[in-house]
Amino acid sequence: MRLYFLPLLLLVCTHSYAAQISLIIDDMGNKKNDEAAFSLPAEVTFAILPNKRLSQVFSIRAAEQEREVILHMPMESLGRQNQEEGVLLSSMKPDEIVQSLKNALKTVPHAVGVNNHMGSRLTQLSMPMAVTMQYLSKRGLFFVDSRTTRYSKAEQIANQAGILNTKRNVFLDHDLQPQKIEQEFHRLIRLAKKYGHAVGIAHPHSQTLNYLKEHLHTLKEHGVSLVKLSDLVSKSSHLVQVTKQKTSIPIL
Ligand SMILES: [Zn+2]
Repeated sequence: MRLYFLPLLLLVCTHSYAAQISLIIDDMGNKKNDEAAFSLPAEVTFAILPNKRLSQVFSIRAAEQEREVILHMPMESLGRQNQEEGVLLSSMKPDEIVQSLKNALKTVPHAVGVNNHMGSRLTQLSMPMAVTMQYLSKRGLFFVDSRTTRYSKAEQIANQAGILNTKRNVFLDHDLQPQKIEQEFHRLIRLAKKYGHAVGIAHPHSQTLNYLKEHLHTLKEHGVSLVKLSDLVSKSSHLVQVTKQKTSIPIL
């Protein structure tokens, strides 16, 4: 090959293997102010809480923007704090779990997948996770483990059920100080470059939304592309998963 083709070839290769980031805004539908998130790029996914006055409205509006939505399914936490209506509990029988998932999905039309809201207790338990993943498999939905505990079995059980899945790598805004959000944003970029893909979760706080509106477009300069969650999930399910990260996560 002539050497003058080399830069072109490198350009093509870099482009096809660009690191990818998907971003999820969790807890959507709690309050009217969350709608500020609709001005984010359409590649950003909304994880919508079920059984809320705004669940359906937000789902439909997101679909109109060709934005992906997932069901943000409340699951029992170790502290049992902030439990939402329709939460999946460890005391439930399999048919009760299925019924809660069914009811929740009815209120979040257009959902292409599910991630967990809280769930530090439930995601550690085999039976509820197996029932959940089997039901999602039946519905053709993928799962994103929010990783609210390092002991989560969600990924392993989703793999056993044969459903597409991935997990959260970075929470962008546990600390709302601008320099902390900035730090986590750059950690997300580093992880995406290291592993080829990474998933960030943020919340519809005004500090976070302002930061994202100002900085999301800079991803390109870092050689990273922002992609729809379903694209990343289908690719990452065939790639090496990011398994060894030490992150401190609060009990959710
Ligand atoms: Zn949540």
